[in-house]
Parts: sequence; structure tokens; C-alpha cells
Amino acid sequence: MTIRNTKHAIPQVRRSAPCTSPTSEPLLTDPVCPMPREHHPDGYRKHPRRPIGKRSAPERTADFREIWAPEWSPEALQDQGERCVDCGVPTCMSGCPIGNRIPEWNDLVHKEDWKEALQQLHATNNFPEFTGYTCPAPCEDACVLAVNDDAVAIKSIERAIVDKGWEEGWIQPEPPAERTGFQVAVVGSGPAGLAAAQQLNRAGHRVTVYERDDALGGLMTYGIPDFKFAKRRVDQRIDQLRQEGITFETSTEVGADLAADRLHDAYDATCLALGAQKHRELPVPGTGLDGVLPAMEFLPQENRRQQGQAAPGGVTATHKNVVVLGGGSTGADCVATAHRQGAKQVVQIGINQKPPSERPADNPWPETAQVYTKTYAQEEGGAQEFAVNTTELADLDGDGRVDELRAERVDWTYENGSRADKTVVDPDVRVPADLVLVAIGFVGPERNPFAHLGVRQTDDGTVATDDRLMTDVDGVFAAGDARMGASLVVWAIGEGRDAARQVDRYLTGDTELPASLQTANPPLGR
Ligand SMILES: Cc1cc2nc3c(=O)[nH]c(=O)nc-3n(C[C@H](O)[C@H](O)[C@H](O)COP(=O)(O)OP(=O)(O)OC[C@H]3O[C@@H](n4cnc5c(N)ncnc54)[C@H](O)[C@@H]3O)c2cc1C
Repeated sequence: MTIRNTKHAIPQVRRSAPCTSPTSEPLLTDPVCPMPREHHPDGYRKHPRRPIGKRSAPERTADFREIWAPEWSPEALQDQGERCVDCGVPTCMSGCPIGNRIPEWNDLVHKEDWKEALQQLHATNNFPEFTGYTCPAPCEDACVLAVNDDAVAIKSIERAIVDKGWEEGWIQPEPPAERTGFQVAVVGSGPAGLAAAQQLNRAGHRVTVYERDDALGGLMTYGIPDFKFAKRRVDQRIDQLRQEGITFETSTEVGADLAADRLHDAYDATCLALGAQKHRELPVPGTGLDGVLPAMEFLPQENRRQQGQAAPGGVTATHKNVVVLGGGSTGADCVATAHRQGAKQVVQIGINQKPPSERPADNPWPETAQVYTKTYAQEEGGAQEFAVNTTELADLDGDGRVDELRAERVDWTYENGSRADKTVVDPDVRVPADLVLVAIGFVGPERNPFAHLGVRQTDDGTVATDDRLMTDVDGVFAAGDARMGASLVVWAIGEGRDAARQVDRYLTGDTELPASLQTANPPLGR
């Protein structure tokens, strides 16, 4: 392969003419973005927090369309932007794993400069609609207003900016001006792989993304339900990436359909963005019964049906007593899918104590608040139980199918955030169950196709890397859930951006790609 090492210009934030303040308010400038910001310290007094809402629960459970209100008013969002007090130390930015320039876009939206707001958004995030629709928004917990008031509706503003960007045709392919001659393989097309691919391609490298599934997008496509994130949003980005010059090979599992050695020999560098979809096992008798399956064998079936495809496995919750094990967001997605499929009853069971409704003293602002909030799925119905420890899945009539979940109700004590001791409050909890969906977490990539080449995994099962995100094998990097453990879309995008930066530096000795994870926030547990 011919290697040509050219110095390349990275398309970064393109700034239009500086914003001018329509008022006589003082203008502020921050060191990250030297764009003048209007000071609007009393916006939050004028406008209450009004995020873009959801469709009503009865309406949305009757279909599989997105739960989010499809429309929003620009004027209302401009008022929401004005609620940002421009506090001087933007804790929202450090609450955001990718350091989004939140005060900038709040102000730009307030001033109706939506196009520049989009540029600022894309400066730190390749796919703001991925996060604008799915992120739990740790930035909002860290907003200064959240100390004693309602946070700025940051996630809604992000969504509105990127929605408008697509509607107005402002989001266009940005192919590199010149090519470096280097070739990079990205394995996995989730948000980490796609972000790495776009950054590397924009740096001028030739990028090929290998994906074992028949469709691109990772968990954005097969995992997250269509009603939480419509798949046309992945398609429009893939279209952009293709037009920028990225090559995609679907239905190609590296390590099975394509030997890892061949890949390693053919490319100048490789980024493993394999995800962490190996599910945690439920350590009780009865998990082998029919009707017991991991969440990730259930949710993608409905994704496929929504795309008009056959769903291998053919399991639905229709007319069934459904038990969802796991109190997290994967569990919530199972609950909501079961409701839409017409389940008779849905019970979501979590092993942990119910979180408090107010921040505890050891979880102060601006940390992500560890408090109970009703999930969108629970808004739609079903029972939710906490501190219930499953002990057995029982087949009562001997037909090989699950009929009942048996458990004990407990009271836990915690040490360093982990369950330590339990007091059994009720040893004989029984819940009728025709379908048990296990959503109790993930423990790393399902397979490590580069293991025989020397790519090591940690004791937690994730791919081990050094600070440069490089594995033990020269030129092989890792990013996203595969490296950090199951986390969030925003972290995956940030990891992809950071891995791209390291790969670019490895190939050319230097990089102009921006750093992403500027903050020291640990990833959120799932
Ligand atoms: C049901 C569910 C709901 C979620 N909801 C949210 C949410 O609302 N908000 C949020 O922020 N996060 C959510 N998450 C987490 C989020 O989806 C992940 O953190 C994120 O997708 C991780 O991105 P990734 O690119 O690292 O991995 P993935 O998205 O898992 O992508 C990895 C890709 O690699 C491919 N792959 C693996 N091995 C190979 C191989 N050998 N060859 C070729 N391809 C391979 C896989 O097929 C997959 O497409 C959810 C997760 C689940 C399971």
C-alpha cells in the first residue's frame, strides 16, 4: 500500500461573522470559543423550564413511533436558551463527557443564530441527534441553575438545533480536501466506530468500517427501540459518511468472516469499536427454560419488525405476564416494548433499593444526581419493584417453559456504592411469568477477534489499552463500550473522537483533531 504523509487541514469549527448583541447587555467571551456571548442573567426569571415534551402515554403506547413530541416552537426554544445565566464557570460543560459548548449554543439559539449554534454543536459532537434524542443529559444535573432551580433545558436545545440543521439542509458531507494515503479499519459501527471513522476520514485517511450486523449503527440500530430513536436518523448520518468517502462492509464479522490477521496486515491502523454486548448471567436455577431470554435477544427482534424484516426467534410479549429483571434503561426499553406488543402484565424488578427522591449528602451538585426519576416506560404503566433478589425461575407444569419468578424482598446495606449485606424482609415473593427478560447489565465485548494477536482484555472483560487508547498490539486501538464497559452514547462518541485523534497522531506523528474527553468525569454505570 502506498503511504503518503501529507499535512492535512482538519475542518474544525467554522465561524460565521461574530454575533452582535441586539441589546446593550455586556458581551462575554470564553477561552474555548472567542465568540462574544450576550449576558442574560435574568432569563430564568422570565421563562420557566419547558423542555420539548413527549407524546402522551396512551397515544404513544398505541404505536412504535418516537415518544418525543415531533414538533417544537423556535420561539419557545429561544426563550429556553435565554434561561442560561452564562454563569462564568460552565459546570454544564464539565458535566458533559464531550465538553459540549453549551453556553455558546444556548446564547446563539436565544439570538436566533441557529446555523452558528449548529457549528458549535458539531465542534464537539459528530452526531448531536444521537445524544439530543437519547442522552440522560448529565449536563443538566450540573447546570448552575440546578443548585436551587430548574436546569436549563439543554438536551431540548441540542435536539432543536440539530433537527433544524437537517430540516434546513445545513448538514452536508464534508469530505477532506486531500488524502494522506493511510488506510484505517474500524471494527464496529456503533456511535464509537462511526465517530472514529468520521474524524479519521476528515483527517484525510481512507477509512473502512466493518460491521457484523446487516445494518449499521450498533446499538443505535439494533438495541435502542425505534420509539426512542427512529432509525432514519442513523440512515441520514450513514449517507453523510458515505458521501464523505467512508466505505462500509456490513454482514462481515472480523474474526469469523474476515480473519483478524488479514485485516491487521492490510491496514495501517485499526480501531476496535466492538461494543460490550456480552450480557451478565443471572446466577439462579431456571435460566435455561423457554421464555427466559436476555434483553438483547428480545429488543433487536422488534427493531427488525419495525424495519419490515422477519425477526429471528419470533418472541413477543403479546398476552403474556412479563417480568423484566433489571432496573436500568435497558430494562425500561424492555418494559416499553412489552407494553407496545400487548403484554397482559409487566413487572420490572430491580435488585437495588429504590433511590432517594432528593440528592443525598454524599451526591452533591454538580455530580450526576443519583435520585429516583420515573422512566418514560414506567410513565406508560406497569409495576416497578425495588430490592427484590431473584432466587429461581420455576417451571410449574413441567413443560419446559417458565411460569413463575421466585425471589426474596431484601433490605441492602451498601459499602462504597456496592451492595454489601442484606436483611431478608420477605423470603417468598412470587410473580407469574410467561416471559422473563434479563436486563442486568453487560460485561464486555462478546468476542475479542484480536486476542490471538495479543490484544488483551482486563479482568472486567473490556479491551485493555494504554493512555493513547492503543492495545498491546502496535497500531490497534480501542474505543467505546468495548474499552470502557457498557456506558452511554455520549461517551461512545467521545471515545471514538479520542481514538481517532490517537490513530491520527500514530500515523502522522501529529494531529489537529480536537481532544474530546476533556473532563475527568467517570462514565455513568448502567
Ligand atoms: C437497550 C439499550 C438501550 C440503551 N439506551 C441508551 C440511551 O437511551 N442513552 C444512552 O446514552 N445510551 C444508551 N444505551 C447505551 C449505548 O447504546 C451504548 O453505550 C453505545 O451504543 C456504545 O457504542 P459503541 O459504539 O461502543 O458500541 P455498540 O453500539 O454496541 O456497537 C458495537 C458494534 O460492533 C459490532 N461488532 C462487534 N464485534 C464485531 C466484529 N468482530 N466484527 C464486526 N463488527 C463487530 C456490533 O455488531 C455493533 O454493531 C443503551 C444500550 C442498550 C443495550
